[in-house]
Amino acid sequence: MMTITAKINKWNPDKAIISRAAEILRSGGLVAFPTETVYGLGADALNSEAVRKIYEAKGRPSDNPLILHVYNMAQAESLVFMNDIARKLAKIFWPGPLTFVLPAREIIPLRTRGGLETAAVRMPDNPVALALIEAANIPIAAPSANLSGRPSPTDSQSVYQDMNGRIDFILDGGNTEVGIESTVIDLSNPEKILMLRPGGMSREIIEEAVNMKLQVPDNTSKKRSPGTRYKHYSPSIPVKILRRDKDINIPANSGFMGLSNLENENFAERIIFDDIANYAHGLFSGFRKFEHENLACIFVEWPEENSGISEGLRDRILRAAGDFV
Ligand code: AMP
Ligand code: MG
Repeated sequence: MMTITAKINKWNPDKAIISRAAEILRSGGLVAFPTETVYGLGADALNSEAVRKIYEAKGRPSDNPLILHVYNMAQAESLVFMNDIARKLAKIFWPGPLTFVLPAREIIPLRTRGGLETAAVRMPDNPVALALIEAANIPIAAPSANLSGRPSPTDSQSVYQDMNGRIDFILDGGNTEVGIESTVIDLSNPEKILMLRPGGMSREIIEEAVNMKLQVPDNTSKKRSPGTRYKHYSPSIPVKILRRDKDINIPANSGFMGLSNLENENFAERIIFDDIANYAHGLFSGFRKFEHENLACIFVEWPEENSGISEGLRDRILRAAGDFV
């Protein structure tokens, strides 16, 4: 299959390009598109055969359900049983990097929801993504547009690198802003909201809005996000976590990413970020850059501070290093 990339202006998406991409989606094809978090690999969420192609293109385990992307509230209501708390949170945070897990309506094929009775929905905060979903006039199932297990793509070149020959079309809308995926919360029991995956929307801001603490699902709970069981987000070279109080041996030809300016250390390459948000924004593209430069190993500094996106960033770092339970 030939993969075509089309550049598109994020703030003023060309209608002809959008309708071409929408037509591919409507006829069961795969289109990668930018969101505010990472690039998504989209297919018609209601077409089981189209959704099968997503799993095949990514090499994604079939029990890892997909997020359905919508462009308005009516579309969300048609897919899942929204409750008052979901509507309230949608009003505050949508479009934005916050995904709700809710009881699914029958219309969603089992394959899209990984065989579960619930489904995940989100309204992405990107004009290209919204225009595409509206033009296609169907909900778009979209995981990140990378091969399963690899770092998520934050630009169209990274999508191309993983997906060339596997998908029909790439909408190149430039770099994504957030850099890591959405926060996933389970709202199916409004009295006990579960944090399934930390991400672009911080826990504190959600807790403030719902006026209660988000609970962590226990390991055995079926409600745990299936996707969080796998090693994930890893480049082809080893990722090692650098903690401030630990002495380490730095092998030759290693790269460094983090917030501190470790000038005296013996790194071949370093990417130093101004703050946590920039760190999250640049983590995955940094992995791919160092991988491309054939470094031996990547050291990532453990972000100690507790603010904003740091919980999501720490989660991605742990999974990339394969260092999780
Ligand atoms: P990705 O599309 O790769 O960003 O992953 C989507 C995330 O949402 C994964 O961690 C999934 O396990 C999670 N997810 C999607 N649908 C559900 C659901 N019905 N219940 C629990 N987690 C879900
Ligand atoms: Mg993913």
